Amino acid sequence: MNRKEVVELCNQYGLKARKSLGQNFLCNDAVAGRIVDSAGIRSQDIVLEIGPGIGALTEFILDTGANVFSSEIDEKLFPLLRDRFSDRLNFSLIESDFLILKRDEWLSPGQNIDIIISNLPYYVMTPLIIKCLEDYSDARKMVFMIEEDASNRIFAVPETKSYGPLSVLTSIYGSKSKLFVVDQRSFDPQPQTRSLVISFDKNEDLKRNISSRFVMFVRHCFAMRRKTIHKNLIASGLNFSNDLLSEAFLHSGIQESSRAEAMKPTDFLSLYDCLFEENDTMSLE
Ligand code: SAM
Repeated sequence: MNRKEVVELCNQYGLKARKSLGQNFLCNDAVAGRIVDSAGIRSQDIVLEIGPGIGALTEFILDTGANVFSSEIDEKLFPLLRDRFSDRLNFSLIESDFLILKRDEWLSPGQNIDIIISNLPYYVMTPLIIKCLEDYSDARKMVFMIEEDASNRIFAVPETKSYGPLSVLTSIYGSKSKLFVVDQRSFDPQPQTRSLVISFDKNEDLKRNISSRFVMFVRHCFAMRRKTIHKNLIASGLNFSNDLLSEAFLHSGIQESSRAEAMKPTDFLSLYDCLFEENDTMSLE
C-alpha cells in the first residue's frame, strides 16, 4: 500500500492512527516486501505477527502461503482486518493484547511456531521482545522493525553503558543482525526517528526455554549497575543465603566481585544453573 491507499483505507473505516498504541502504518510496499523476504518464511510455516495494523506486512506474509496468526490490540482495526483478509484461508486474527496472550489460547498443545515478525509498536518494544523470547523461543527466527535509536540496547556488548537484560536475553536466544534502515517517509503518520529492521536467528544449541524465572534473575543482576551481582542477588528478595551464593559462584567459575555489565551472556546461564539446581524448591514463576 502506498500513502494514498493507507489514507483512503483509514478514511473508509473512520480510523485515525492512535499514537498511544504506537501506530505508524507502513506505506511502502518495497519495504514491506523486503521485511517479509528477510524472514525466510516457508509455505508450511506457522507465523506470528504482532500488531498487523491495517495489514501492510500481513498481506506479504500471507502471500508466502504460511499459516499466519496476527495479534492486534486495537479493536477499531478488527473490522478492517477481517474484511481485508476474509478470503485468505491462511489468516487468523487474534483479537488481543499480545502482552497478555497465552500460548495455549491460539496454539494447540505440541504445536510449534516457526517465525515471528513485527513492525513493533515502539512504546512497548522491550516487553514485547522479552515476551517473544520467554513464550516462543521455539521460533527459528524473529524479524522486527524497531526504532533505530533503541537498537543499541539490543546489540550492546559487555562493558558498555547500554548492555543490560535485553542484550543478554537476545544473545542467549541466538545471533542478531541489523538488516536495513527505513526512513520516516515510509510511514503514515511519520515517526520522529528512523527505523531499523533487525533479525534474531535461533541458536540451534538452545535446547531450553528462556524461562520467566531466568528473565527475572537477569533483571535482578542488573538492578544496581555499580554493585556486584552478589550484592544485587542478596538485595533481590529472592532469599539466597550467603552459603548458597558462595557455592554457586564457586561452581560456575564466576568471581563474586563481578558486576553484571562485565559478564558474558552465557555467564548468566552458568550462574543461574548453579543457583537454581541447588535450590530447586524455590518457586518464583
Ligand atoms: N504492522 C503494521 C504496519 O507495519 O503498518 C502496523 C505497525 S504499528 C507500528 C504497531 C501496531 O501494533 C499497531 O497496529 C498497534 O495497534 C499494535 N499494537 C500496539 N500494542 C500492541 C499490543 N500490546 N499487542 C498487539 N498489538 C499491539
